[in-house]
Amino acid sequence: MGKFAELGLNASLLRAIEEGGYEEMTPIQSSAIPCILKGQDFIGVAQTGTGKTAAFSLPIIQHLVKGEGKRNPKAARSLILAPTRELAVQIADNVKAYSKYMHLRTTLVYGGASQKSQVKAMASGVDILIATPGRLLDLQNQGHINLGEVEILVLDEADRMLDMGFIRDIQKIVARLPKDRQTILLSATMPKTVEKLANSILRNPTRIDVAPTSTTAEKVDQHVLFVPKDRKRALLAHVLKDKAIERVLIFTRTKHGANRVAKNLDQLGISSAAIHGNKSQNARQKALNEFREGEIRALVATDVAARGIDVDGVTHVINFDLPNEPESYVHRIGRTARAGATGVSLSFCDHEERPYLRDIEKVIRQQVPLLEDHPFHSEGMELRNNGAGKEEKEPSGRPGAPKRNNSGKHKPNRRINQPKSHSAKPGSGPQRKGRPSANRGSRSGNAS
Ligand code: AMP
Repeated sequence: MGKFAELGLNASLLRAIEEGGYEEMTPIQSSAIPCILKGQDFIGVAQTGTGKTAAFSLPIIQHLVKGEGKRNPKAARSLILAPTRELAVQIADNVKAYSKYMHLRTTLVYGGASQKSQVKAMASGVDILIATPGRLLDLQNQGHINLGEVEILVLDEADRMLDMGFIRDIQKIVARLPKDRQTILLSATMPKTVEKLANSILRNPTRIDVAPTSTTAEKVDQHVLFVPKDRKRALLAHVLKDKAIERVLIFTRTKHGANRVAKNLDQLGISSAAIHGNKSQNARQKALNEFREGEIRALVATDVAARGIDVDGVTHVINFDLPNEPESYVHRIGRTARAGATGVSLSFCDHEERPYLRDIEKVIRQQVPLLEDHPFHSEGMELRNNGAGKEEKEPSGRPGAPKRNNSGKHKPNRRINQPKSHSAKPGSGPQRKGRPSANRGSRSGNAS
């Protein structure tokens, strides 16, 4: 896969990478870094967990070293656009860790916080500006930011930025950048809208896809637990008695669902917090920090709030509700088993969610093993009348699905807290030597 040491990077940069515990490049890094170093445009179809942040930030830092100290007032030499504050903060933490032996200035600009310190940080110019589109445009309109000197533009999680309605802001921002620049686009998926945007702003890009959904799924020790809907809370309480579940991300389909689960955990004396779109940026960041630092055991999240979040050491993912989009399932379980670690996912599946399970199994091209060892299993297995007078078929009955035997079980059960032992597969995820310091910088979330 290639080693960082062979890239001819600046010695200070290499030192920081090595201290971060990185040795081997991930697939996206080995294709992106040489290409970006040559000054070419680049499209990476990749999710968080693949090492995509380093893939674009390392060559940018290398590029910026050449003109170190060349900053002009209010100007940014490079611009990284991200959909949310959380992701922007995460990128900044990485960038700061990689450039810690250099004299580059990195600043964050995002909404939901006072603009005062952001304006101040921009006053003397920066090398790397990491921003959410709305606030960036706002400060630019007020005359606090000069976009006319950007040499490199990165659009991170482009699909999500478009999902969040940022297309017009992005177009306005791009129109104010120099035409002669390098552009890099990262996206977890490549719908037509992203393709169109890419065609309009990149020049002869090299493209690489590293989004092997099944690889993510293979790394996680997955289980499904059949349970009646009204017993899910009791099942969660039961499951969480297991102390091996140290750091758990719990997914619900709705914001209200997330609040209800968090409240329930409170009553059980389990430390938790909920993050979703109705929470303020500050509350979300606080919850995330507490979860990262291990101050709370459980984080309850909706899909939108959790995508792109990078937290190390998530031992378990619990799908309190199954997602109706199979891709979300892959994103969710990908929050555990990161960076070569093992992880376990437990999916609570009620009767109405069986069709979702089928869709998921089709996408991941494998069967999710059934875990029977819990008090609600037989209730959950009961065939019920689906209200239309017809009996719901067992999952084994569907075409193209992996075979189950007639009791619905298809693998011997393990206990919840026994992840299968396996070394990290040579997938697309990064593997570490030790605990990296990169990504572990200050979490102040403010401009530096
Ligand atoms: P990302 O996909 O950028 O969110 O990165 C996922 C995680 O992998 C982050 O915690 C990075 O610090 C880490 N990482 C990135 N590249 C490597 C690498 N080559 N070796 C080991 N860890 C890495």
